[in-house]
Amino acid sequence: MTDRNGVHRMHDQLQARLESERARLVARLSDVRASREQSTVTVIESVGSLDELGADLRVADTLDAQFRDALEAVDLALSRVGDPTFGTCIECGRPIPLERLLAIPEACKCVECQTREGRARRD
Ligand SMILES: [Zn+2]
Repeated sequence: MTDRNGVHRMHDQLQARLESERARLVARLSDVRASREQSTVTVIESVGSLDELGADLRVADTLDAQFRDALEAVDLALSRVGDPTFGTCIECGRPIPLERLLAIPEACKCVECQTREGRARRD
C-alpha cells in the first residue's frame, strides 16, 4: 500500500478526531431536538406566539439537517478510515492533501471536486 500523502501514518490521529467530532455532532443533534420540543411546550403553555414557534422550528430543522449531513460525512469517513482508499478523493481518486484532511478529517473529496460540486449545486 502506498502512502502518497502520508495519511495512513496519521490514521490514529484522524480516527480519534473523527470519533470526537462524531460525539460532538450527536450531542448537538440531541440539543437541537430538545430545544425544538421546549419551543413547542412553551407555545402550548401559551407563553410564546405561533410565529415565534414557526421561526424556532425552522431554525431547529435547518440545524438538524446540517448536523445530520455532517454526521453522515463523519460516518462515511470513519467507515473508510482503515481502508486503503481513505485519503483519496471519492470522485477522482487522487490523494487528498494531508493538510486538508488534518483541517477537515471527514473530507472525502479533493478541493477541486468539492468546488465543482458546490458550483453544480448552485446552478
Ligand atoms: Zn477529486
